[in-house]
Amino acid sequence: MSTIWKADIYLQKNSRWFSKRRLRKLGAVPHANGCWTIEAEDKSYVTKVCTKYRLKCTWYKKEWARSGNYREMFFRYHTPPYRCRYCHKRLPEHKVEVDHLMPVARVKKSRYARFLLRIRGIRNVNDTRNLVASCHRCNERKRDQTGLWYLRGLLGRYRVYWLIRDLMLLALLAGVVYVLLLFWH
Ligand SMILES: [Zn+2]
Repeated sequence: MSTIWKADIYLQKNSRWFSKRRLRKLGAVPHANGCWTIEAEDKSYVTKVCTKYRLKCTWYKKEWARSGNYREMFFRYHTPPYRCRYCHKRLPEHKVEVDHLMPVARVKKSRYARFLLRIRGIRNVNDTRNLVASCHRCNERKRDQTGLWYLRGLLGRYRVYWLIRDLMLLALLAGVVYVLLLFWH
């Protein structure tokens, strides 16, 4: 099977009208954020056109792009009860925000992000193993961050992680109370 490539194309302000017409002709699709996407098996023609009209064009393999049905896929493979992977809050289905644990934006750009997925045997960013339930608050705070968020998302799968976290918080609280009492007397 041949590789299908996808590109994000950004328009320059000065050549907007002309480029739009040109992009439509190429088969590119506009998105709400001002970015156009295009799919191709052969990158050379699109790249040539983009270079000619000075359009910024970033290529990535199709499997690293956000799919249209990832939310549906998540609910097909994950059964209730749903909990936010980042804060363990219980969520009814309509409040679940499906989050790409390794963010799509990172995967498109970073070889290291793709490597981190590959070592888990994941070759598509929309793989259900890379989809987690999140509450609105955590999803807003996480955005395209990785690092600790990624680690938390991985560990959040295990009940024992939340147990240890709660115990540690309790110990911390007990420690604070103890110190306060020491100073009190
Ligand atoms: Zn949360």
